[in-house]
Amino acid sequence: MSSSQAITSLTLTSLPKLSTGKVRDLFALDDSSLLFTATDRISAYDVVLANGVPGKGLILTQISAHWFAVLEQKVPGLKHHLISLTPPASAPLTPEERALLRGRTMVCRRLKVFPIEAIVRGYITGSAWSEYTAKGTVHGIPQPPGLQLCSPFPNGPIYTPSTKAPAGEKDENISPEQAVSIVGKKYAARIQELSLAVYSAAAAYALERGIIVADTKFEFALDEATDEVVLVDEVLTPDSSRFWNAAEWKAGSEAPSYDKQYVRDYLTSSGLKGKPNVELPASVVDETAAKYRDVFQRLTGKSLEQALAALE
Ligand code: ATP
Ligand code: MG
Repeated sequence: MSSSQAITSLTLTSLPKLSTGKVRDLFALDDSSLLFTATDRISAYDVVLANGVPGKGLILTQISAHWFAVLEQKVPGLKHHLISLTPPASAPLTPEERALLRGRTMVCRRLKVFPIEAIVRGYITGSAWSEYTAKGTVHGIPQPPGLQLCSPFPNGPIYTPSTKAPAGEKDENISPEQAVSIVGKKYAARIQELSLAVYSAAAAYALERGIIVADTKFEFALDEATDEVVLVDEVLTPDSSRFWNAAEWKAGSEAPSYDKQYVRDYLTSSGLKGKPNVELPASVVDETAAKYRDVFQRLTGKSLEQALAALE
């Protein structure tokens, strides 16, 4: 993968760009659908790095697609935004654009996204561990004394929502009451219920494949026609989750991870955390690409090439 070039920006001649996120570019297909397209950009600590990770957008897209297929079987009543992995023949795309998008785009329902990040944590690490060691709480919820780093929460996974901050600002933790005030009582309850159900189904599935989903972030949107809460965005990718190797996990220390933690650790140890225009060294790019590919293969049972070959 390191031999290929990272695709860090995308423009299509005949489809309007709706938005540019840290990783994705969204293009309008029509009034009700969009092309949800992952570039190879990588962000850490809310800052996009100067260079990308070749092939990362392909992995994020294919891993999300795999999860949508798994989750619609495992979580009764779950609705999601994926329509197709190939743009329709009627879409005004040149052959070159189709080739560029192949494997990294999803035709998705165009919906109004709820402005909260639905985070579920099964294991205590990262900011949750910092809060616990300082105050004995996680997301303000008192936890029993004596928990070890990276241990599972004793009473099961916990839901710790945050705001979805505008570009350049930091997401802030919010209480369940604040979530209610942002999205309303009915939708806040449904988002929480679905988040925990999806996490539990996914964590069990991943564990059978040797992966611990330590924590993850979901986004949901409203289908205004049916009043249903729909799972959108990327799902259970190494960008949105912490994935650990179950075989090497042990409470009390950080397990080897297949996700962005490696990049975060590199930035922190090099004094580059949060700095703009940071260029990752080739070795860090290659190692990140290898981790993303590895977890893709473990979770899906396929190589990236096999997944791409199965596309129409
Ligand atoms: P991060 O993922 O790090 O929070 P980001 O929010 O900038 O960064 P990207 O993944 O680059 O994320 O961009 C994807 C954007 O698309 C997000 O703003 C997300 O809310 C939005 N989105 C996801 N699914 C849909 C959908 N079905 N309809 C409309 N917008 C969507
Ligand atoms: Mg995102």
